[in-house]
Amino acid sequence: MTILVSRCLLGEPCRYDGQSRPLAELEALRQAGHTLVPVCPEVLGGLPVPRAPAELQPDGRVRCADGQDVTGAYRLGAERALELARKAGCQAALLKENSPSCGFGRIYSGDFSKTLISGSGVAARLLAEHGIPIYGESRLDCLL
Ligand code: SF4
Repeated sequence: MTILVSRCLLGEPCRYDGQSRPLAELEALRQAGHTLVPVCPEVLGGLPVPRAPAELQPDGRVRCADGQDVTGAYRLGAERALELARKAGCQAALLKENSPSCGFGRIYSGDFSKTLISGSGVAARLLAEHGIPIYGESRLDCLL
């Protein structure tokens, strides 16, 4: 199977803070014969590394703590991630949980209080709307 994977889970330092969140278990997916296609929607949307942290707001916009509206970059990144997934023939996506781009099912609430609420990041939602099953890193076992 061809699987779209959040770049930060693959060890690439593309997070807002310049860090990564490497997931050692990804090697098991490779060894099981899956092809991994790296993606970072926020970078694809033109955002730099490092960058100010942002959260999805109740009104659907994405804003940094200082109020800067970065919705356009998030939406562009989501569209480019979908295009990449289609071109590569991805049948599933393994995405970083809780992110305003990659989170699926649970994201931060939008007030920078570290509170998680129901919802999905901009890219994860677009991919799911186009029929790509999304798995957070805690559900990697489902892909094995
Ligand atoms: Fe990781 Fe996704 Fe955030 Fe990029 S947008 S740093 S891949 S969680």
